[in-house]
Amino acid sequence: MALLQISEPGQSTAPHRHNLACGIDLGTTNSLVASVMSGETKLLPDTNGDSMLPSVVHCGINGMSAGVEALAFATSDPVNTISSIKRFMGISFNEAQSIKNLPYDLVDQDGGAVFKTAMGELSAIEISARILSSLKRRAEDALGDELKGAVITVPAYFNDAQRQSTKDAAKLAGINVLRLLNEPTAAAIAYGLESKEEGIHAVYDLGGGTFDISILSFNRGVFEVLSTGGDSSLGGDDFDNLIFEDCVKSLNLKDLSASQIQVIRQLSKSAKERLSVSDSAEFKLVDQHYKITQSQFEVLSEQLVKRTIQITKRALRDAEINASDVKEVIMVGGSTRMNIIRERASDVFGKPVLCSINPDEVVAKGAAIQANILAGNKSKDDVLLLDVLPLSLGLETMGGLVEKVIHRNTTIPITRAQEFTTYKDGQTGMGIHVYQGERELTKDCRSLGRFELKGIPPMVAGRARILVEFQVDADGLLSVSAQEESSGVKSEIEIKPSFGLSNKGMEKMLKDSVVFAQEDIVLRQLQEQRVDATRTIEAIDAALEADQSLLDEEMLASIKGARQSLFLLVDSEDAAIIKEATLELENVSAKFVEMRMNKSIMSAMKGHRIDEFNEQL
Ligand code: AMP
Repeated sequence: MALLQISEPGQSTAPHRHNLACGIDLGTTNSLVASVMSGETKLLPDTNGDSMLPSVVHCGINGMSAGVEALAFATSDPVNTISSIKRFMGISFNEAQSIKNLPYDLVDQDGGAVFKTAMGELSAIEISARILSSLKRRAEDALGDELKGAVITVPAYFNDAQRQSTKDAAKLAGINVLRLLNEPTAAAIAYGLESKEEGIHAVYDLGGGTFDISILSFNRGVFEVLSTGGDSSLGGDDFDNLIFEDCVKSLNLKDLSASQIQVIRQLSKSAKERLSVSDSAEFKLVDQHYKITQSQFEVLSEQLVKRTIQITKRALRDAEINASDVKEVIMVGGSTRMNIIRERASDVFGKPVLCSINPDEVVAKGAAIQANILAGNKSKDDVLLLDVLPLSLGLETMGGLVEKVIHRNTTIPITRAQEFTTYKDGQTGMGIHVYQGERELTKDCRSLGRFELKGIPPMVAGRARILVEFQVDADGLLSVSAQEESSGVKSEIEIKPSFGLSNKGMEKMLKDSVVFAQEDIVLRQLQEQRVDATRTIEAIDAALEADQSLLDEEMLASIKGARQSLFLLVDSEDAAIIKEATLELENVSAKFVEMRMNKSIMSAMKGHRIDEFNEQL
């Protein structure tokens, strides 16, 4: 018989209350929702028993629908049936337009892209919100009450704007976002790696249309993304295509209609899926017969598989680790069911890969486990999750230079402050312009937002102390504040860029930072020298205006001469020449500076005895 527990008066534990929470895998092709119920992580299916919700939204004259219902309009009403909305989150109109073969009508709205549909103009956030609200309803129906919140997964390479758009979509759908979680990290949690020893893990994710590889490090309860790589146009569809082309060639099919192509593609796809469990697959086309064996398929697939392996090796190099350093390799995405993929991935890492959890469900399940903890159903100490910043964040300083405040790959959440000062005497305002990127000049980085700190008390240049604080929260979102220390005046912004960088854009920024590293250093030195020269000229001009009378004609002429030479050279392209001319002006003005100092000391001492100053010392 179980013993009954009796607690001290007033110390009885509150009746157990389970906060309802779910994990959402908001995928490009399909989305899923999962929750921890009675200690078990379960996918929440729709009323037909299907767990996968096609990430498709139909925006017709009679309103919006999502999932299978929307998918039904894909051929009859393609302009109003939006799929792969994830690719449009947080990107600009120009970037959206560069996505190939779009049947949609895109409109430029303040630089961002909106879809022109039968329901009017809709943003990616609004369309994505429709998918999320379907999942929310499904979860609340299954769990029987309102959700306290959800953890939503995003690709590890998603930037600030893409993450913010995902959060905005969730808000619009009435979902309280407990946290955005990187997809590979969610997969690692689903396999319970956070309860195992520390180490490095790889997450190989091959879906229907995209490939992603992430290298994670797990250390003292923290997952960090060491590197990511991928190809946004490499996935299961390409493998279907190999069978499709082989079939067309071997059966000598010609003049196929659009619908015949559609049928053969469908048959090729299911043949590919059957090959994951049997040695051969075949199908009939009217009076013809097509057959492919496992080994024939492997020969056809060779090049595609090789591409994923090359990207994987590059990610390992970026993370500066060897394949043999990787402890666990997790397989995610429907296409990792293919034998050749599992074999080649385990060859690269020299160990068997983890594929016991359904590769379509593993991300949603990990998100559900994390949501359960964050909703307060388990100790928060169970999993402490941190990610890293994909690109450096900084401020514009004089001369169009970027001063990095938080460097790329820093673990988040993080708060970092840096002191800045005024450039001119009596300066009462300071523009704070926030940039993202690795390059030295603002023109090569990406502007995230700007604000102004006003009300700085007038002081001599360089005297004010302005503390600028960058805060990046656990979701990778940034807020920046600036405060003048002596007066306490403060100003701040939350950075919510209206559109962001594509995966390719980010990759380019990183590559450019390496390619142009040397050139950037030279440019930075030149800009710094120009700022220094301008400051010296301005200081001399101010001094001459106030105290020119202290100088004899000869001194005045030599200062003016040196000032004029520097003035003419300040825009030259040679930092050394500018430096030399600046030093020359400083040298010829040294005596003048001394005379001014003496003059101000004399005036400060007027009416005082010298011993009064000694007493103070
Ligand atoms: P996902 O985007 O993760 O849902 O993956 C969808 C892709 O997985 C599609 O290309 C499917 O054809 C592929 N897939 C699903 N099941 C299998 C299977 N048994 N063998 C090979 N590929 C599969």
